[in-house]
Amino acid sequence: MKRKIWFFIVVVIFTLAFCASAKANDIEGIVQRVKEQYGINLVYVSIPVSPSPDVTYVGPGKGDYSILFEYLRVIEKEIQKYPPEFFQKTNLKNIFFVKKLFYQDKAAEGAYNYPHHVIFLDFLRNHGNKIAQRHHFHHEIYHMITQHIPDYTLHHDEVWESWNEPGFAYGKGAGSNQKNPLNLFAPPKLGFMTEYAMMSVEEDKAETYACFFVSSQHKLMHRWMEKDEILRKKVEYMKNFIQNFCSQINEEYWQRFLKLS
Ligand SMILES: [Zn+2]
Repeated sequence: MKRKIWFFIVVVIFTLAFCASAKANDIEGIVQRVKEQYGINLVYVSIPVSPSPDVTYVGPGKGDYSILFEYLRVIEKEIQKYPPEFFQKTNLKNIFFVKKLFYQDKAAEGAYNYPHHVIFLDFLRNHGNKIAQRHHFHHEIYHMITQHIPDYTLHHDEVWESWNEPGFAYGKGAGSNQKNPLNLFAPPKLGFMTEYAMMSVEEDKAETYACFFVSSQHKLMHRWMEKDEILRKKVEYMKNFIQNFCSQINEEYWQRFLKLS
């Protein structure tokens, strides 16, 4: 009887070890493809200590590989939405895949460290919600590209802010019991794709940008802006902004993007 139990334990241990190494092989396949196509290192083992005291995290263990692989499959598809030239312009070198990611005392889905050209992504934070995982990836991409635009003003944009409803102030919330007067499921104030966008002008832009690259959100954005003139102005601005940064992401690109999705 005892021998049987030992046999069972040994089989379980070997099976777990086999699964971990099979997933490690699958993960390596994605890592190699992204490195070859984009020159970006997807880092998940021996993750260096944080380059900034504001950003803290824990690296994945072998027991996380199954979830990490699922996450990497999502991220590879999102990276492939960009032409390789896009990332060359930003000099992105590494993406670190971590868990328990915090910016100061706030839980974070992602963060970008400009001096080291690193994006940090928490692969566990939105487990099971692929739309949120996609959206947050592009949100961080926006924060990254703004660091590479000369004379970009991070915290103010008079033109963008002037489009908001009179009396609106970023970071104050929408007030209780407010409802969007034009679009039923939109955030309570006009001109926003998410409630988080009402935090600051920079987060508003990052949220609008991210919605462009997630097809369901892109389509929703187009529906809402038919009625919401403020949102329409922000979408037009962002479309031009993206094309100015990378000329290949133009009208033709978006038509193809929406057709394929
Ligand atoms: Zn942000």
